[in-house]
Amino acid sequence: MHTLPSYLDPQHLGPWGIYLQQIDRVTPYLGSLTRWVETLKRPKRALVVDVPIALDNGTIAHFEGYRVQHNMSRGPGKGGVRFHQDVTLPEVMALSAWMSIKNAAVNVPFGGAKGGIRVDPRTLSQAELERLTRRYTSEIGIIIGPTKDIPAPDVNTNEKVMAWMMDTYATNIGETATGVVTGKPISVGGSLGRREATGRGVFTIGTEAARRTGLSIAGARIAVQGFGNVGSVAARLFSEAGAHIVAIQDHTGSVANDKGLDMAALQAHVAAEGGVKGFKSAQDISSSDFWSTKCDILIPAALEGQITQDNAGLIQAQMVIEGANGPTTPEADDILKDKGVLVVPDVIANAGGVTVSYFEWVQDFSSFFWSEEEINERLVSIMKKAFASIWDTAQQHKVSLRTATYIVACTRILTARDLRGLYP
Ligand code: GLU
Repeated sequence: MHTLPSYLDPQHLGPWGIYLQQIDRVTPYLGSLTRWVETLKRPKRALVVDVPIALDNGTIAHFEGYRVQHNMSRGPGKGGVRFHQDVTLPEVMALSAWMSIKNAAVNVPFGGAKGGIRVDPRTLSQAELERLTRRYTSEIGIIIGPTKDIPAPDVNTNEKVMAWMMDTYATNIGETATGVVTGKPISVGGSLGRREATGRGVFTIGTEAARRTGLSIAGARIAVQGFGNVGSVAARLFSEAGAHIVAIQDHTGSVANDKGLDMAALQAHVAAEGGVKGFKSAQDISSSDFWSTKCDILIPAALEGQITQDNAGLIQAQMVIEGANGPTTPEADDILKDKGVLVVPDVIANAGGVTVSYFEWVQDFSSFFWSEEEINERLVSIMKKAFASIWDTAQQHKVSLRTATYIVACTRILTARDLRGLYP
């Protein structure tokens, strides 16, 4: 008889199983809070919804949508919504759990949540995409809200999608409710600096990690996987700081230039062609050549499960800064550790996005908006402070930065759990 693996089984394949292994790795460092650790291995609430829409040709299509609230001990749920053909419930569970860890790591007062729709948005017209977004928002409307759970952009969702989500929710409840989602356009309650925040955070954390290991960013060689909202901004900021972006891979292919790729020209090429492939001032290279690029820093900024036991051995960088969520498997983590590669984990490296989401949410509540300078200053200061305490924790316990981040974050989450106590 075919039996599905329990979601508590660390052998569960994919991102959720990886997350469970990460929790097992942190458990020995939780002291008396270990009593509560099981809380982290189960999502608080998981909603699966049917999202039917009328296609432009008049037929009806059904899509599967999810919203998972992993933990809310420290505040309302917070995390993005992704539209991708491979999205599954266990994947969204993992992504929601990583949001709990991330939000606690930078100490913003949120729990962790995530949502998604199993759809390839490139196959839909704008009108179909709008109907899909609005129906999905309506279906998950029973559990989201400015003080309940606040979605945001993620893979293949953007400001426009957030505007539709906000409008749908507000229409349904009959109130202005800008604080129900973050990552909105500026003219409907969005925040300056939010679009660039994740990439800026990757740059800030990368610079901090480099400083502590004696690596100079000026002149450093960097390879980036993913040229979306995270990878393109991080690459540009590193390049402006004097680094050479020597290779980039996206869903269309991999390109390299030993002297450094021209970021503005590449950005224009991607806007026109939809991907990096065929960029004139570069060579097209194979995927394995991309992973074995001679570089100082590698930034995976695409999807999860990209650095595995199959390609970790190829990596020549001295530092991996995780712009994506969950790009490195635990086996690959161990291979990189043995090779002496420093891995700066997703749950701190890409926390810049949700940090400015927190600022957006605060600004929406007070209807008082800050300058971009103020936002960037506060972002950098929060991220530096968070990274310093993670770095010190890693030194103190002689553990990886990932385990150190989990020690800091899980201690905060479970302390809140402990103080609140169990109801009833
Ligand atoms: N989707 C982003 C992340 O994975 C941002 C989430 C948010 O701003 O709520 O961190």
